[in-house]
Amino acid sequence: MIVRPPLPDEPLAAFIGRMKRNNLCSTDNELFVNLAEYMFPKTARNTEINPVELLAKIYGMTPLFFVRQHTMLPLAKLVVWFDRDKEKAVDLTHQRYVNVALRKSQNLAYLCRDCVAEDMEFRGLAYWRRVHQLPGIDRCAKHGTALLGCSSRDVLRQNPLAFADTSNQIFDDQLDDMCDNPVVARYVQIAESLLAEISQPIHVEDISVHIREWARVQNLRVSLNGKRPLLSDKAIEMLPREWLKRHFPKSASKEYGRFSDWLDGTWFSRKTPRHSASYILAFTLMYESADDAINALANLKSAIVPRKALTHRKRGAWDSNDLVKVWMQNLGNTAAIAKELNLSKAYIHQRLVAAGLPCLSKKAGTAIKLAIQRYWQGESIFKACELSTANIEEVESFLRVATHRNFSEIWDVRKNPEKSSVGVLNSPKYD
Ligand SMILES: [Zn+2]
Repeated sequence: MIVRPPLPDEPLAAFIGRMKRNNLCSTDNELFVNLAEYMFPKTARNTEINPVELLAKIYGMTPLFFVRQHTMLPLAKLVVWFDRDKEKAVDLTHQRYVNVALRKSQNLAYLCRDCVAEDMEFRGLAYWRRVHQLPGIDRCAKHGTALLGCSSRDVLRQNPLAFADTSNQIFDDQLDDMCDNPVVARYVQIAESLLAEISQPIHVEDISVHIREWARVQNLRVSLNGKRPLLSDKAIEMLPREWLKRHFPKSASKEYGRFSDWLDGTWFSRKTPRHSASYILAFTLMYESADDAINALANLKSAIVPRKALTHRKRGAWDSNDLVKVWMQNLGNTAAIAKELNLSKAYIHQRLVAAGLPCLSKKAGTAIKLAIQRYWQGESIFKACELSTANIEEVESFLRVATHRNFSEIWDVRKNPEKSSVGVLNSPKYD
């Protein structure tokens, strides 16, 4: 077997394509099986081969290093969602992600004619490069040459020489204007550095909170509707329209002030990641230099907001004082309390009943507050309830649980000076 290491920045699919051509293998799997048997003949194999683990072992590097040097995953999976309760970080060497890197769906790839010519001269073979496949990149960073778009089924596994002459230079003379724009140049720099500098995927929640906070400070709109301009309006203002249209086709129909998911989705969603290019574009607009943007991306703070649902489900997390407070703030309305605490209505109902607090409609809640105020001002409990159309049993059950401090703190109920005891509720007075 011919076993040669991957070339600098060579994408995994391209490397596999090259190895298959060298060793006359017709499928990826045939190549992996042959390679494994050839390199590690004594190792028994009865599980699926993870190509990244196999190749990393052959070439003496860690699987993660291999992924970071030879797949688009650091960029494709720049922003992900994962369950923080279950995993601390995403493992890009997992078969699930490796399969993404190996998926045979890419039918368009880019190459630089000057790189091909140079490769032929120095290496005697030409190869694809990751950096040319980055979204939003139109020119070779090394030669400044316009990239060639090459289309074919599963194109990266093909020999680039087959395309070097036939492909169309799909860009026109607007390319220079587009690429010389300082904001585009910044985007390109950020995208190219990302391949090497971000070691771990970023949680979508962290990045969206960061962009949102920035937008707020800039007085940009962070809601679907409103009058202030959006981040997408800023993009239209700062970038050549042609470049935007080429790399963010949906920007073609952008209207001022209209929420545009291709960019505004970055601050809008904390759950569903948008395309990596959208986040790169957002950071391009946010920072004046590519270094600042990369540093900010590498040092994003975790935006973990304590999940109310979890905090409140912990044993002992809810003492009756907390319960009374939230009950008073929401006037005993189960639905409102459930919404505030991000818990189900059924669960809240159960907790309130267990604590001896009545579950009320909005109207009944307002009536109880009024009755309590009247009662506290010296009215008898019967009279206070009658005047306020409150249910006396509900008022009584509430009074049994609440403390004096709750009243002054939350409902601003001042004690009638005639009432004597301090800090202890008087038992209801009956006529
Ligand atoms: Zn080049």
